[in-house]
Amino acid sequence: MIEDKNPQRTPLSELGEFRLIEHLTQNFKINHKSTILGIGDDAAILDSEKKQIVVSTDLLVEGIHFDLSYVPLKHLGYKAVMVNLSDVCAMNALPTQITVSIGVSNRFPLEALEELYAGIETASRMYNVDVIGGDTTSSTSGLIISITAIGKVEAENVVKRSGAKPNDLLVVTGDLGGAYMGLQVLEREKEVFKVNPQSQPDLSMYTYIVERQLKPEARKDIIDLLKELEVKPTSMIDISDGLSSEVMHLCKQSNVGVDVYENKIPLDPQVISTCEEFKIDSTTIALNGGEDYELLMTISQEDFSKIKGNPNLTVIGYMTETDRGMHLVTRGDTKVPIIAKGWKSFNEKEETE
Ligand code: ADP
Ligand code: MG
Repeated sequence: MIEDKNPQRTPLSELGEFRLIEHLTQNFKINHKSTILGIGDDAAILDSEKKQIVVSTDLLVEGIHFDLSYVPLKHLGYKAVMVNLSDVCAMNALPTQITVSIGVSNRFPLEALEELYAGIETASRMYNVDVIGGDTTSSTSGLIISITAIGKVEAENVVKRSGAKPNDLLVVTGDLGGAYMGLQVLEREKEVFKVNPQSQPDLSMYTYIVERQLKPEARKDIIDLLKELEVKPTSMIDISDGLSSEVMHLCKQSNVGVDVYENKIPLDPQVISTCEEFKIDSTTIALNGGEDYELLMTISQEDFSKIKGNPNLTVIGYMTETDRGMHLVTRGDTKVPIIAKGWKSFNEKEETE
């Protein structure tokens, strides 16, 4: 389905590990003063600049986390970086460095890894993070990517999952459900392609949601915005697994309850129309979809005037005493408990699949 733009196929064995690493990392530049030493020695050296250091790692495995039949390698490299930067941002920290480790089978030619690294390079340039090291190994089958992201934050500005208080407002950035619906469209086109390999998918109606799936962005801009607005959230998490599970993490770790208002959940019109087409409930998708990489935070009521009217920040509910539980207040004004995988209609659907 993805056209092979680079027909040349150089076997990895032609280079050897040393030349491969050198080749893949040749375009990386060091921009941060805190990077004392980057790629090339036994370890990198960082200067903490009297700040706290935030570290987060993710592992992506082919066939589990990504499907190369519709994910271009360049996008995969970009997304692998975003997933990690998003975790750093969720601590209210600014990402500064990453390491990149890959396990790769001989199924992949050098040109494939060049594509992957082009995506990693674009992401690190756009988000101003230095690539300071990694590891390279062969694997018996498939591709494995592990990225570690490092960030910095003044000790007093760290935001954890555990600081929410009753009456705090629950705030989400951007809109939800797009990445999941983009995946549904890509999966559908993959099935069509299997039956008719000549078919060219027309994705023009789905550009926003497909982009949300293939090229997510970490909300580093929100960390800058919060600073500008002089708002320090009381708790924060990034939305990788869907709103309901992230809300539950905040509630459990802060020991509070929550009321989330269904009619406040921000949805893009393309998510709504694609949900209608797939006959899925859009609230279910926002609650359970995942991979949106937006930020979910709680802020004190006193800070409401500072965020009011900001198009990036939507108040979707408020925190309660823990014994009030975790609920979705539906459009029909009934209260439905929020459970691990969303709410009832989602489970019904899963069982019939
Ligand atoms: P070692 O044998 O000590 O693990 P390597 O030969 O694996 O060293 O790595 C040499 C240098 O290249 C190190 O700085 C390492 O961090 C970096 N490096 C290795 N693999 C990668 C990779 N896939 N991406 C980025 N940097 C890498
Ligand atoms: Mg090594």
